[in-house]
Amino acid sequence: MTEKLALLGGPKAVMVDSANTFRWPIITEEDEAAVLEVLRSGDMSGTDVTKAFEEDFARYFDMPYCLGHCNGTAALLAAMYACGVGAGDEIICPSVTYWASALPCYSLGASVVFADCDPSTLNMDPGDIEHRITGRTKAIMVVHYCAHPSDMDAIMAIARKHGVKVIEDVSHAQGSLYKGTLTGTIGDVAAMSLMSQKSLVVGEGGMLVTRDRMLWERAVAFGHYGRHGELTDPGLIAGKGYPFGGVKHRMNQLASALGRVQLAHYQERIEAIQAAMNYFWDLLEGCPGVRAHRPAKDSGSTMGGWYAAKGLYRAEELGGLDIGRFCEAVTAEGSPTGPGANPPMHLHPLLNEYDIYGHGQPTRIAFATRDLRQPPGSLPVSERIGREVFSVPHFKHVHKDVIELHAAAFRKVAENAAQLR
Ligand SMILES: *Cc1c(COP(=O)(O)O)cnc(C)c1O
Repeated sequence: MTEKLALLGGPKAVMVDSANTFRWPIITEEDEAAVLEVLRSGDMSGTDVTKAFEEDFARYFDMPYCLGHCNGTAALLAAMYACGVGAGDEIICPSVTYWASALPCYSLGASVVFADCDPSTLNMDPGDIEHRITGRTKAIMVVHYCAHPSDMDAIMAIARKHGVKVIEDVSHAQGSLYKGTLTGTIGDVAAMSLMSQKSLVVGEGGMLVTRDRMLWERAVAFGHYGRHGELTDPGLIAGKGYPFGGVKHRMNQLASALGRVQLAHYQERIEAIQAAMNYFWDLLEGCPGVRAHRPAKDSGSTMGGWYAAKGLYRAEELGGLDIGRFCEAVTAEGSPTGPGANPPMHLHPLLNEYDIYGHGQPTRIAFATRDLRQPPGSLPVSERIGREVFSVPHFKHVHKDVIELHAAAFRKVAENAAQLR
């Protein structure tokens, strides 16, 4: 159907105020009461509420050992330490992710080797991992990017073959299933952010989750000196009293209290998100130029809370229309969108030039026996992917009328792309 695009003066596709469809986190009086209770007790720096939150978490993930952290970055650092990542070691990590998946390794005297990503899942390409493993590789950092579960079968097989640990960064993917199993329960240890823009929200906070008591104890030893009484390993007990990492990772109990309430409602809320987002993409089935970023329907895999929901752009189906122009036109229709993913980390100066700690050479290679820096052109998909994905509305409720209008905005621009060329 030919319709004049709003960008060119036509009527807008979305003309309702849909703010309530998008609001997140959902905060009710129950959250307020839980936080107020801790506030009035004055025990923000205690651990009783945090331990209760850890127990709730252990139940949700069906994992025996959870450890609350002050943020996700701290939980990731602790997970790396727990896995034995230390001086001169390497981790393998996707380049297109938030920096905290990789950069904490620097403070352990370790470095990072990036693997390329898959243009459809946006996750680390399992075919680009194995040849990067060396005698110094200690861990593979898996990021379930924008809530899409990574190919864990392939990654675990590679890791087991080479005896390296797998850390899952679940910051985008709390509640995402990989073939019916929760992400964060498949690798050796998982760490995740629970900051207030993520799907599962406590404010500033993080969680580490594992089945391995020793990994948990190492994380306790590293950043939780106040809980060293929980250690059982003689080697760790020998150093107890001071945090091994010289860092303090304790969670603020205002956050743990909020987290307990948020987690109690989480499954129900993400199921609404999943129904809403899947409805949106079902409406766009067959629409030229755009593809859903989601696993196949019969795979048993899901998209958790659809954190930072994305679509995949196929310019060739729209006569080569620039993604920026496409997004501008959809935004003009009343459905704000823009191109982009996290910029590829391997091109940033901090991964190439900077000597952060005064080692006399770039930190990336300060302890390395070879130059493991990765120049422009070395990870081609990661370098171009920001021009192949765009944000999509992140519906929190199954408000079908609103979802239909937003889907119509994308379809209208795609089907009338000729007007923009
Ligand atoms: C947000 C995020 C983190 C860091 O968590 P903070 O709680 O902000 O410290 C780590 N990894 C990924 C992939 C993230 O998106």
